[in-house]
Amino acid sequence: MKTRTYSPTPANLRRLATALQGGALVAIPTETVYGLAAHALDASACEKIFKAKGRPAHDPLIVHVLDLAHAELLAEFNYTARKLARQFWPGPLTLVLPKKPCVPEIVTAGRDTVALRSPAHPLTRRLLRLAQIPLAAPSANLFGYVSPTSAAHVLDGLAGKIPHILDGGSCRVGVESTILDLTNANRPRILRPGMVTAQELEKFIGTKVAEAATRLRRSKKTGLIAPGMLPQHYSPHTPLIIKDGWTKLPANTAGIFLRKPAGSIVAEAYWLSARGSLAEVARNLYRVLRQADNASHHQIWIETLPADSGGLAAAINDRVRRAAAKR
Ligand code: AMP
Ligand code: MG
Repeated sequence: MKTRTYSPTPANLRRLATALQGGALVAIPTETVYGLAAHALDASACEKIFKAKGRPAHDPLIVHVLDLAHAELLAEFNYTARKLARQFWPGPLTLVLPKKPCVPEIVTAGRDTVALRSPAHPLTRRLLRLAQIPLAAPSANLFGYVSPTSAAHVLDGLAGKIPHILDGGSCRVGVESTILDLTNANRPRILRPGMVTAQELEKFIGTKVAEAATRLRRSKKTGLIAPGMLPQHYSPHTPLIIKDGWTKLPANTAGIFLRKPAGSIVAEAYWLSARGSLAEVARNLYRVLRQADNASHHQIWIETLPADSGGLAAAINDRVRRAAAKR
């Protein structure tokens, strides 16, 4: 299969909207990371996502919609869910809610809940408006590898496996959405940390929000790890090791610093932000991980943020820990 990258001209957007309606896969830019989109109500289109990514069938997909009205066609919203959607959509917050029967089993991996989000990226919003269908879209990378934040990253992993990529430049946020389980509105629970934090959500809804489990739990029934809780995820091929506060690197080792190191810089040094801005760290994390991974080092050392850094730190540390988890 030939993979073509499209610039966002009106004609190309119309063409890609038609392709999606017809059941084809299109990699789309969102503000978080690039997604691999398919018509969410077309089970055979969604099946192609799992095949192209090598994604196991027990890992459910997030469905992307234009707005709350479209989301309500797919899930049973409660008062809190509506309130949060009105406040945080379009944006990097995914809500898990009881699904309606129209959502195919393959999208939810057989669960009775569905994950929904309204993305903020203007190009993907234009596609949603043109196609008038919900789009199931996980990250547009091979399963388990570092998520893509540019069209070139998508091509790196999925060239020859998907027909279309819409190039929308680099992703503004750079880490995946916050996933909030609202199946029980009285006990909201974060399944994956992201840019929208537990504190922000708590302040807005006035209910305690449980934070993502840092330990990985297996279901007693299925023996499977809860979705989003896969220990090793977002990982480079080169062994990645968390090391805080080092001064010297061993031979053949790359070092990823949070901020630009002072003084002399070794050739193997990468950094995530010039001045240590969390937004910049998040935006650069996957690009720098990919860059270090492609430079044939024997191992990569990476720093984590102090636990009390707040804001995006929980999401950044979560992704770094998963990327570094032993295989
Ligand atoms: P990705 O789009 O690849 O970043 O991953 C989508 C993630 O959303 C999955 O791995 C799950 O963690 C989460 N997810 C999707 N649907 C559900 C659901 N019904 N219940 C819980 N988590 C979900
Ligand atoms: Mg993913």
